[in-house]
Amino acid sequence: MSTRPIYLDCHATTPVDERVLAAMLPYFTERFGNPSSISHVYGWEAEAAVKQTREILATAINATPEEIVFTSGATEANNLAIKGVAEAYFQKGQHIITVATEHSAVLDPCKYLKTLGFEITILPVQKDGLIDLTELEKAFRPETVLVSVMAANNEIGVLQPLAEIGEMCRDRNIIFHTDAAQAIGKIPLDVQAMKIDLMSLTAHKVYGPKGIGALYVRRRNPRVQLAPQQHGGGHERGMRSGTLYTPQIVGFGKATEIALAEQITENQRLTQLRQRLRSQLSQLEGIHFNGHPTQRLAGNLNISVEGVDGAALLLGLQPIMAVSSGSACSSATTAPSHVLTALGHSEKLAYASVRFGIGRFNTPEEIDIVAKHAIATIQSLRKQTTLV
Ligand SMILES: *Cc1c(COP(=O)(O)O)cnc(C)c1O
Repeated sequence: MSTRPIYLDCHATTPVDERVLAAMLPYFTERFGNPSSISHVYGWEAEAAVKQTREILATAINATPEEIVFTSGATEANNLAIKGVAEAYFQKGQHIITVATEHSAVLDPCKYLKTLGFEITILPVQKDGLIDLTELEKAFRPETVLVSVMAANNEIGVLQPLAEIGEMCRDRNIIFHTDAAQAIGKIPLDVQAMKIDLMSLTAHKVYGPKGIGALYVRRRNPRVQLAPQQHGGGHERGMRSGTLYTPQIVGFGKATEIALAEQITENQRLTQLRQRLRSQLSQLEGIHFNGHPTQRLAGNLNISVEGVDGAALLLGLQPIMAVSSGSACSSATTAPSHVLTALGHSEKLAYASVRFGIGRFNTPEEIDIVAKHAIATIQSLRKQTTLV
């Protein structure tokens, strides 16, 4: 039997589903053509595969296939959306609104734009992690060109009210971008009903391969202009040059298709697993369950633990479970999670936090092992601190 820890870090990444891998494999070897090659069958079959994924993604979010621009992932999609709008609408205005709990792939492009003279408003969140729509209302200015609010948070799983935000932006003729890296395949997304103009997607959080993502770019009512951030052969209607990575694109399509087909039953199953974990951890005193109780991703449970040292906690959990505090993308730094401090937690409490990302391949038995070990670890750490 494998002695590797139980994987519960599905917000960082997920394994490629076997069905996804099987769909991808022929595109590395026999069907290796360049989808831009228009003069032979190698190109045509690659192009047909790319087209199919465009259609799957478009259907998934109620867009059209022409509105899908492939990128290397959500980081690139966010950069293209934010910098692309800032540059294209420079004459109209230079003010952008985003949120304190966004992923660094949104916050950092905004910080970069600030160094170029753009004005950035970073909205706070409420204790439950949701933005306050009256704060958004107050933040709008005549020169606001873009609002960027994520669909689902990668640390605390909170789902922001996209339709309400979309409505407010559309009323004011402001472009609305959402980072949906954690949302695609997991919650219903509809760019028409939610009045979304730009949406960042990625494959590797839904059992697809790493290194592939997309940006939805609205073409009608209104048509969104984007300044390309990578120039070259004019691929993706000039918005993102570079030979399309056909095997990854095929995997992205298959992964999305599976996630959509299984969404309802899988969310029920994940909710049960989360409740199972939560109710066992609730036996302990001094546990904060972070994020809104119902406006959340089914597979996310994020706790802050009073009376323990964060580093010792993670070290104690490590042999049994693969979890993280904060997000994988910022865990190279030693700062506490900016998401948890935005909820109002002290630095010490934010450090003593654990993100459980439950996914497709986790079982109730694994959850019980994890709960048992987490409880024992926390109790033992608390005992040690009271002895000192
Ligand atoms: C993972 C993640 C990203 C980065 O996506 P990549 O495809 O790895 O670049 C961006 N935003 C959120 C919310 C994420 O969870």
